Amino acid sequence: MPEPRLPTGIPSIDRLLGGGLEADCVTEIYGEGGSGKTLFCLEVAVRVAREGHWVLYVDTEGVSVDRLRAIASDELERILRKFLLSTPKDLEEQTRAIATACALAREGKRPVGLIVVDSATFFYRLSLSGSDEDEARQALSLELADLVVTALRAHVPVLITNQVWRNLKDGTLEPLGGSFLNHAAKTILKFERLPGPRRRAVLVKHRSLPEASAEFRITATGLDGPIPG
Ligand code: ATP
Ligand code: MG
Repeated sequence: MPEPRLPTGIPSIDRLLGGGLEADCVTEIYGEGGSGKTLFCLEVAVRVAREGHWVLYVDTEGVSVDRLRAIASDELERILRKFLLSTPKDLEEQTRAIATACALAREGKRPVGLIVVDSATFFYRLSLSGSDEDEARQALSLELADLVVTALRAHVPVLITNQVWRNLKDGTLEPLGGSFLNHAAKTILKFERLPGPRRRAVLVKHRSLPEASAEFRITATGLDGPIPG
Protein backbone atom coordinates (compact mmCIF):
# COMPACT_ATOMS: atom_id res chain seq x y z
CA MET A 1 0.00 0.00 0.00
CA PRO A 2 1.40 3.44 -0.86
CA GLU A 3 2.34 5.58 2.15
CA PRO A 4 0.06 8.57 2.74
CA ARG A 5 1.78 11.88 1.97
CA LEU A 6 1.58 15.19 3.76
CA PRO A 7 0.88 17.87 1.13
CA THR A 8 3.18 20.87 1.50
CA GLY A 9 0.62 23.19 -0.09
CA ILE A 10 3.10 24.35 -2.75
CA PRO A 11 1.67 22.76 -5.91
CA SER A 12 4.90 22.41 -7.90
CA ILE A 13 6.73 20.83 -4.94
CA ASP A 14 3.84 18.50 -4.16
CA ARG A 15 3.93 17.28 -7.75
CA LEU A 16 7.70 16.79 -7.48
CA LEU A 17 7.22 14.75 -4.29
CA GLY A 18 4.41 12.61 -5.65
CA GLY A 19 1.87 14.29 -3.36
CA GLY A 20 3.92 15.57 -0.43
CA LEU A 21 6.18 14.55 2.43
CA GLU A 22 6.27 10.89 3.42
CA ALA A 23 5.22 10.18 6.98
CA ASP A 24 7.68 7.46 7.89
CA CYS A 25 11.00 9.09 7.08
CA VAL A 26 13.23 12.12 7.32
CA THR A 27 13.12 14.67 4.50
CA GLU A 28 16.15 16.93 4.19
CA ILE A 29 16.35 20.26 2.39
CA TYR A 30 19.71 21.77 1.74
CA GLY A 31 20.62 24.94 -0.09
CA GLU A 32 22.39 28.25 0.18
CA GLY A 33 21.25 31.11 2.41
CA GLY A 34 18.04 32.73 1.20
CA SER A 35 17.01 29.76 -0.94
CA GLY A 36 13.76 29.37 1.02
CA LYS A 37 14.44 26.48 3.42
CA THR A 38 13.03 28.23 6.48
CA LEU A 39 10.03 29.60 4.58
CA PHE A 40 9.28 26.10 3.33
CA CYS A 41 9.40 24.69 6.88
CA LEU A 42 7.11 27.47 8.13
CA GLU A 43 4.69 27.00 5.26
CA VAL A 44 4.32 23.26 5.90
CA ALA A 45 4.18 23.77 9.68
CA VAL A 46 1.38 26.33 9.40
CA ARG A 47 -0.56 23.97 7.20
CA VAL A 48 -0.23 21.12 9.70
CA ALA A 49 -1.20 23.34 12.66
CA ARG A 50 -4.18 24.69 10.73
CA GLU A 51 -5.42 21.10 10.41
CA GLY A 52 -5.33 20.84 14.22
CA HIS A 53 -2.17 18.73 14.55
CA TRP A 54 0.82 19.58 16.71
CA VAL A 55 4.06 20.84 15.23
CA LEU A 56 7.26 20.18 17.19
CA TYR A 57 9.60 22.87 15.87
CA VAL A 58 13.29 23.01 16.78
CA ASP A 59 14.60 26.37 15.62
CA THR A 60 18.29 27.25 15.78
CA GLU A 61 17.99 30.41 13.69
CA GLY A 62 15.23 32.48 15.27
CA VAL A 63 11.90 32.03 13.51
CA SER A 64 10.76 35.27 11.98
CA VAL A 65 7.40 35.99 13.57
CA ASP A 66 6.72 38.49 10.77
CA ARG A 67 7.12 35.77 8.14
CA LEU A 68 5.04 33.38 10.21
CA ARG A 69 2.33 36.03 10.51
CA ALA A 70 2.43 36.62 6.74
CA ILE A 71 1.85 32.90 6.13
CA ALA A 72 -0.68 32.36 8.91
CA SER A 73 -2.44 35.72 8.36
CA ASP A 74 -5.22 36.25 10.92
CA GLU A 75 -4.91 32.69 12.25
CA LEU A 76 -1.52 33.32 13.92
CA GLU A 77 -2.73 32.97 17.52
CA ARG A 78 -4.64 29.76 16.79
CA ILE A 79 -1.70 28.31 14.89
CA LEU A 80 0.86 29.19 17.56
CA ARG A 81 -1.22 27.26 20.09
CA LYS A 82 -0.34 24.10 18.13
CA PHE A 83 3.38 24.93 17.96
CA LEU A 84 5.79 23.51 20.48
CA LEU A 85 8.79 25.69 19.69
CA SER A 86 12.25 25.11 21.13
CA THR A 87 15.15 27.45 20.48
CA PRO A 88 18.39 25.68 21.46
CA LYS A 89 21.47 27.85 21.86
CA ASP A 90 24.14 25.18 21.38
CA LEU A 91 24.49 21.61 20.15
CA GLU A 92 23.88 20.15 23.60
CA GLU A 93 20.59 22.02 23.93
CA GLN A 94 19.69 20.97 20.39
CA THR A 95 20.26 17.31 21.28
CA ARG A 96 17.95 17.67 24.28
CA ALA A 97 15.29 19.51 22.25
CA ILE A 98 15.29 16.79 19.59
CA ALA A 99 15.14 14.02 22.22
CA THR A 100 12.13 15.73 23.83
CA ALA A 101 10.36 16.19 20.49
CA CYS A 102 10.97 12.55 19.55
CA ALA A 103 9.74 11.31 22.94
CA LEU A 104 6.56 13.40 22.67
CA ALA A 105 5.83 12.14 19.18
CA ARG A 106 6.39 8.51 20.16
CA GLU A 107 4.35 8.83 23.34
CA GLY A 108 1.36 9.65 21.14
CA LYS A 109 -0.61 11.56 23.78
CA ARG A 110 -1.21 14.46 21.42
CA PRO A 111 -1.56 14.19 17.65
CA VAL A 112 1.81 15.27 16.28
CA GLY A 113 1.63 16.06 12.58
CA LEU A 114 5.19 17.25 11.93
CA ILE A 115 8.66 17.56 13.46
CA VAL A 116 10.91 20.32 12.08
CA VAL A 117 14.60 20.91 12.79
CA ASP A 118 15.77 24.15 11.14
CA SER A 119 18.71 24.00 10.88
CA ALA A 120 20.00 20.58 11.88
CA THR A 121 23.61 21.58 11.16
CA PHE A 122 23.99 25.21 12.34
CA PHE A 123 25.69 24.34 15.67
CA TYR A 124 27.39 21.33 14.12
CA ARG A 125 29.03 23.65 11.58
CA LEU A 126 30.25 25.95 14.37
CA SER A 127 31.99 22.99 16.03
CA LEU A 128 33.69 21.75 12.89
CA SER A 129 36.94 23.66 13.17
CA GLY A 130 37.28 23.23 16.95
CA SER A 131 38.61 20.48 19.17
CA ASP A 132 35.10 19.09 19.76
CA GLU A 133 34.56 18.08 16.13
CA ASP A 134 34.24 14.34 16.87
CA GLU A 135 31.82 15.02 19.69
CA ALA A 136 29.70 17.21 17.38
CA ARG A 137 29.64 14.53 14.70
CA GLN A 138 28.56 11.95 17.23
CA ALA A 139 25.83 14.24 18.65
CA LEU A 140 24.46 14.88 15.17
CA SER A 141 24.48 11.17 14.35
CA LEU A 142 22.53 10.33 17.51
CA GLU A 143 19.99 13.09 16.85
CA LEU A 144 19.45 11.82 13.33
CA ALA A 145 19.08 8.24 14.50
CA ASP A 146 16.44 9.37 17.00
CA LEU A 147 14.56 11.28 14.27
CA VAL A 148 14.72 8.35 11.83
CA VAL A 149 13.33 5.90 14.40
CA THR A 150 10.64 8.34 15.52
CA ALA A 151 9.41 8.94 11.97
CA LEU A 152 9.22 5.21 11.44
CA ARG A 153 7.56 4.28 14.73
CA ALA A 154 5.25 7.26 15.26
CA HIS A 155 4.55 7.76 11.57
CA VAL A 156 5.34 11.46 11.76
CA PRO A 157 6.96 13.33 8.86
CA VAL A 158 10.30 14.81 9.90
CA LEU A 159 11.62 17.83 8.03
CA ILE A 160 15.20 18.98 8.56
CA THR A 161 17.24 21.66 6.88
CA ASN A 162 20.93 21.55 6.16
CA GLN A 163 23.47 24.15 5.21
CA VAL A 164 26.00 23.96 2.42
CA TRP A 165 29.73 24.35 1.84
CA ARG A 166 31.39 25.24 -1.44
CA ASN A 167 33.52 22.49 -2.92
CA LEU A 168 36.53 24.46 -4.20
CA LYS A 169 37.49 21.70 -6.64
CA ASP A 170 34.46 22.20 -8.89
CA GLY A 171 32.60 25.12 -7.27
CA THR A 172 29.52 23.06 -6.41
CA LEU A 173 27.52 23.57 -3.21
CA GLU A 174 27.54 20.42 -1.10
CA PRO A 175 25.39 19.57 1.92
CA LEU A 176 27.04 19.46 5.35
CA GLY A 177 26.87 16.43 7.60
CA GLY A 178 28.63 13.95 5.34
CA SER A 179 27.41 10.54 4.38
CA PHE A 180 25.59 9.89 7.65
CA LEU A 181 23.09 12.65 7.00
CA ASN A 182 22.85 11.57 3.40
CA HIS A 183 21.84 8.07 4.48
CA ALA A 184 19.55 9.14 7.31
CA ALA A 185 17.34 11.21 4.99
CA LYS A 186 15.26 9.09 2.62
CA THR A 187 14.18 12.17 0.64
CA ILE A 188 16.59 14.98 -0.16
CA LEU A 189 15.64 18.25 -1.82
CA LYS A 190 18.14 20.87 -2.92
CA PHE A 191 16.86 24.45 -3.10
CA GLU A 192 18.55 26.81 -5.55
CA ARG A 193 18.26 30.57 -5.97
CA LEU A 194 17.13 31.90 -9.33
CA PRO A 195 16.71 35.60 -10.22
CA GLY A 196 14.30 37.62 -8.07
CA PRO A 197 11.74 35.63 -6.09
CA ARG A 198 12.21 32.51 -8.20
CA ARG A 199 13.64 29.34 -6.66
CA ARG A 200 14.24 25.82 -7.89
CA ALA A 201 13.72 22.62 -5.91
CA VAL A 202 15.72 19.63 -7.13
CA LEU A 203 14.69 16.17 -5.93
CA VAL A 204 18.16 14.75 -5.37
CA LYS A 205 17.12 11.54 -3.63
CA HIS A 206 13.84 9.65 -3.18
CA ARG A 207 12.98 6.01 -2.52
CA SER A 208 10.45 5.72 -5.32
CA LEU A 209 10.78 8.77 -7.60
CA PRO A 210 13.40 9.75 -10.18
CA GLU A 211 15.56 12.87 -9.92
CA ALA A 212 13.55 15.87 -11.16
CA SER A 213 13.14 19.56 -10.46
CA ALA A 214 10.41 22.17 -10.10
CA GLU A 215 10.23 25.91 -9.72
CA PHE A 216 8.55 27.85 -6.96
CA ARG A 217 8.68 31.45 -5.82
CA ILE A 218 8.75 33.51 -2.67
CA THR A 219 5.77 35.83 -2.30
CA ALA A 220 4.70 38.32 0.35
CA THR A 221 2.54 35.64 1.96
CA GLY A 222 4.82 32.60 1.74
CA LEU A 223 5.72 30.21 -1.07
CA ASP A 224 3.80 29.52 -4.26
CA GLY A 225 4.20 27.80 -7.60
CA PRO A 226 6.14 29.41 -10.47
CA ILE A 227 5.03 32.74 -11.94
CA PRO A 228 2.12 31.84 -14.25
CA GLY A 229 2.50 32.25 -18.01
P1 ATP B 1 19.39 30.44 5.53
O1 ATP B 1 20.27 29.31 5.05
O2 ATP B 1 20.15 31.73 5.63
O3 ATP B 1 18.65 30.12 6.79
P2 ATP B 1 16.94 29.98 4.02
O4 ATP B 1 17.19 29.04 2.90
O5 ATP B 1 16.31 29.47 5.25
O6 ATP B 1 18.31 30.73 4.36
P3 ATP B 1 14.69 31.73 3.91
O7 ATP B 1 14.90 32.49 5.17
O8 ATP B 1 13.64 30.69 3.90
O9 ATP B 1 16.08 31.16 3.41
O10 ATP B 1 14.34 32.71 2.71
C1 ATP B 1 14.58 34.04 2.78
C2 ATP B 1 14.32 34.61 1.41
O11 ATP B 1 13.01 35.15 1.40
C3 ATP B 1 15.29 35.73 1.09
O12 ATP B 1 15.76 35.53 -0.24
C4 ATP B 1 14.45 36.98 1.17
O13 ATP B 1 14.83 37.89 0.20
C5 ATP B 1 13.05 36.45 0.89
N1 ATP B 1 12.02 37.24 1.59
C6 ATP B 1 11.96 37.49 2.90
N2 ATP B 1 10.87 38.23 3.19
C7 ATP B 1 10.22 38.43 2.02
C8 ATP B 1 9.01 39.11 1.64
N3 ATP B 1 8.26 39.73 2.53
N4 ATP B 1 8.64 39.09 0.34
C9 ATP B 1 9.40 38.44 -0.57
N5 ATP B 1 10.54 37.79 -0.28
C10 ATP B 1 10.95 37.79 0.99
MG1 MG C 1 16.84 29.43 7.26
